[in-house]
Amino acid sequence: MRPSGRLHLGHHHGVLKSWVRLQHEYDCFFCIVDWHALTTDYAQVDKLQQHVMDMAIDWLAAGVSPSSATLFVQSHVPEHAELHLLLSMICPLGWLERVPSYKEQLERATGEGLSTYGFLGYPLLQAADILLYRAGQVPVGADQLPHIEFAREVARRFNHLYGSEPDFELKAEAAIGKLGKKVGKLYRNLRRAYQEQGDAEALETARALLKEQSNLTLGDQERLFGYLDGDGKVILAEPQPLLGDFARIPGLDGQKMSKSRDNAIYLRDSETEVEEKLRRMPTDPARVHRDDPGEPQRCPVWSLHQLYSNDECMHWALEGCRSASIGCLDCKSALCSSIQRELAPLQQRAIDYEGSPELVRSILAEGAEHARDEARETLADVRRAMGLNNR
Ligand code: SF4
Repeated sequence: MRPSGRLHLGHHHGVLKSWVRLQHEYDCFFCIVDWHALTTDYAQVDKLQQHVMDMAIDWLAAGVSPSSATLFVQSHVPEHAELHLLLSMICPLGWLERVPSYKEQLERATGEGLSTYGFLGYPLLQAADILLYRAGQVPVGADQLPHIEFAREVARRFNHLYGSEPDFELKAEAAIGKLGKKVGKLYRNLRRAYQEQGDAEALETARALLKEQSNLTLGDQERLFGYLDGDGKVILAEPQPLLGDFARIPGLDGQKMSKSRDNAIYLRDSETEVEEKLRRMPTDPARVHRDDPGEPQRCPVWSLHQLYSNDECMHWALEGCRSASIGCLDCKSALCSSIQRELAPLQQRAIDYEGSPELVRSILAEGAEHARDEARETLADVRRAMGLNNR
């Protein structure tokens, strides 16, 4: 996540809640990508440190836990930069120029000085962020799918360039022999199920099976990963998108909540701030007077009730709006209490972390150490594959 200031309810519902769930289901790496912030905001760096700190505090306060996941800052793991550099050698320029978000942002930001090398290359830096950890899945929204596809294409090109061997099939068969009779047979069955029926679950099981084989050399393991697809050694794994059920949170103007639109309620906003912000929020345009009945489905305030209020409160708002027995200010006041009820424990944790910046820094430092252990392994394979292993 790119550090751009304190996080808002859109981040909370759209991302952080799913991360809190995913950290118990997967081996998760969550990265504050400060280098990415520089790809667009290179001229405004005075607040970058504070933004990084705020982001870490908001993550921790929301329940992303260093005991369940790895939390770190991108620039603390220089391997991201080296992999980015090495991948830049093989990434055709046209691939970067056709990334949809690059074209869109460039058109939107004419005159903002985004015709830079760093901005053009940011999808490749993002690919390096993913490929460095040989990530199996990346939690994204639908708008990020082209970026995952881009990372997959880069990995495929890398593997094609550096993973092919003249006697690949013979070596792969020899490696299966080293798995032992039972595991070897299971591997063959899973490979057949994937190749003949496209069984994606069989592919995942086969990959997990290979990861457990401690008696295989790294080279044989890469060969057998590649043999599942049939083309060559897999040095960089192709990531899959993990599409989340990301709720679209309306902001104070009814549009998507975002910092740039200045329509956000922040996780650390006080009750008074939330109350004042909700007061400005548009309601059902048909409810001009207090006596006019309204329709919650036409009202962005109702969308927030659905996320924050309990059944009793939602029933009260629904009936009260349609019968005009409550006013919009009553409705917003009840919503404010519901939001506050959910945010109160998070805000208390945030206060604790704000008072212990050293603790936050040490969590990020430990995360970076763990991330580097993983990153070094991948980079060693990449260097070796690219003829740079003479250290
Ligand atoms: Fe919206 Fe509530 Fe007013 Fe109905 S009563 S229009 S749901 S703010």
